Amino acid sequence: MNRARLNRDRLPTYVPAEGIAPLCPHCEQEIEGMCQQQIDASFGKAYLWFCIECRKSLGVSHRKGFWMG
Ligand SMILES: [Zn+2]
Repeated sequence: MNRARLNRDRLPTYVPAEGIAPLCPHCEQEIEGMCQQQIDASFGKAYLWFCIECRKSLGVSHRKGFWMG
């Protein structure tokens, strides 16, 4: 991947995800739902998302505050 020169003729195409079930990278089961757990962050609230099948973490979303959405 040439990071110095981006090929702007090939922008990614965004396809609606309807009907496509994402797979958990840990257990490779179809993710039918995710659990979230609120965790304390240094500033604002953070939510830890995890797979309902294997309970491994899928990612963290961070809300910096109510005024920033
Ligand atoms: Zn899983």
